[in-house]
Amino acid sequence: MVARFPPVGRRRGVEERAPVRYISTRGSAPALSFDEVLLAGLARDGGLYVPEAWPQFSAEEIRAMRGLSYDELAVRVMRPFVAGAIDDEVFAAAVKSAYRTFGHSAVTPLVQLDRQHWLLELHHGPTLAFKDVALQLLGRLFDIVLAKRGERVTVVGATSGDTGSAALEACRDRDRVNITILYPHGRVSEVQRRQMTTVDSANAGTVAIEGTFDDCQDMVKAMFADAAFRDETNLSAVNSINWARVMAQIVYYFAAALQLGAPDRPVAFAVPTGNFGNVYAAYGARAMGLPIARLVVGTNSNDILDRFFRTGTMRTGGVTPTLSPSMDIQISSNFERLLFDLFGRDGGKTDQIMRMFRSEGWFGVTAGQLAEAREIFASARCDDETTRAVIAATHRNTGLVVDPHTAVGLAAAGSAQIDRGIPVVTLACAHPAKFPDAVEAATGLRPGLPARVADLFDRPERITVMKNDLKAVQEHVRRFARGRAAA
Ligand SMILES: *Cc1c(COP(=O)(O)O)cnc(C)c1O
Repeated sequence: MVARFPPVGRRRGVEERAPVRYISTRGSAPALSFDEVLLAGLARDGGLYVPEAWPQFSAEEIRAMRGLSYDELAVRVMRPFVAGAIDDEVFAAAVKSAYRTFGHSAVTPLVQLDRQHWLLELHHGPTLAFKDVALQLLGRLFDIVLAKRGERVTVVGATSGDTGSAALEACRDRDRVNITILYPHGRVSEVQRRQMTTVDSANAGTVAIEGTFDDCQDMVKAMFADAAFRDETNLSAVNSINWARVMAQIVYYFAAALQLGAPDRPVAFAVPTGNFGNVYAAYGARAMGLPIARLVVGTNSNDILDRFFRTGTMRTGGVTPTLSPSMDIQISSNFERLLFDLFGRDGGKTDQIMRMFRSEGWFGVTAGQLAEAREIFASARCDDETTRAVIAATHRNTGLVVDPHTAVGLAAAGSAQIDRGIPVVTLACAHPAKFPDAVEAATGLRPGLPARVADLFDRPERITVMKNDLKAVQEHVRRFARGRAAA
């Protein structure tokens, strides 16, 4: 009997594996190859791309991955996804170059906390948060695919602080890409601002908008809605729904599980969750054959996902600012990928549900669908008070200083009641120095920046402030793109 959920591909020998094709969760956009899906981001029918069938690794193939370096493992795990679009040697070189930017030679080192619990440190990249793992590779893949097509793109994005710097670092110095990030003037922390405004690269720039984050985001949306502008600049995004980001995140689940005995021993993961991209990558790793016993979704007080996994109803509410701002979300965009599977990969049905969600602010799944989801997922909510307590307790018990997002994950790991024989790995998604105030309040210690970025406060900043005026900002982006094309 083959399990229906999640649907997986037929197991085939490595040699006869056909390149993965990608289909939309809304069912009506055409299936695409890897290079097309990389550049497309969102599907034309409004859906998200997922593999038509997940590539499968046998236990024997997974066992053979033990002892590989992170780069070698990354190539092994991702090759089926990019096959046919990017040559093996070119891909291996991009992987190597992407992870050379990390400050730790294990890339994502695993640290033991106690008999059952472990931390997977994902914050050794250039901007000290886990998004670097995917984005450092994404920028390089953009260059490769664009060069092949003789194209270039203009990336624009809005940030409330955290993702902007990861996107800038990902796209800096890339031949075929130029990037402009909009952030709200005076409304990001000094570390966040400096991480963006000190990027010294001719193709990467920022604009501080006199307005709020929502104003920045509305402006980016308006640029995408302006067809003439979009075509003229070949507008693109590197947002969290891009398939390649999910793909790159699958790798570290393999890396951690292999160290803890996979495929001969199951492992559980606790994931601080916002847009559901990181934990969806774990779901993908499981679909590929990694023995993952449980995925624990950790939310802060913005607990829409925790409420879903407890009740089967997804209902939006207002967003409350918390100590873990990267998880202060209303709608988890990548959740649609899981929903598509829960609805038996019926794109029409997924489309209908997502439309209802947009217009009514809620949707529900059946008791059977909820039970299927709960065979894999558990969830827990952690408020700011508990977040502080977990940071303090972790420091007391292990000497380690964790950031507030990681603390939410640790709280979820602690509450999930996982069988004592199963190791539980919590994802450490940001370096504590990114959130020094919260960490100092909990531990009395002010975490310092790692040595490789310690000169952040001495680097010269380039700050461009502009009014909240769409036409003027579009002209700025256009000029910046043209300057690059001529260079
Ligand atoms: C982006 C982010 C998250 C949330 O990850 P998702 O993939 O959006 O669920 C959690 N913690 C930190 C530090 C982040 O930057």
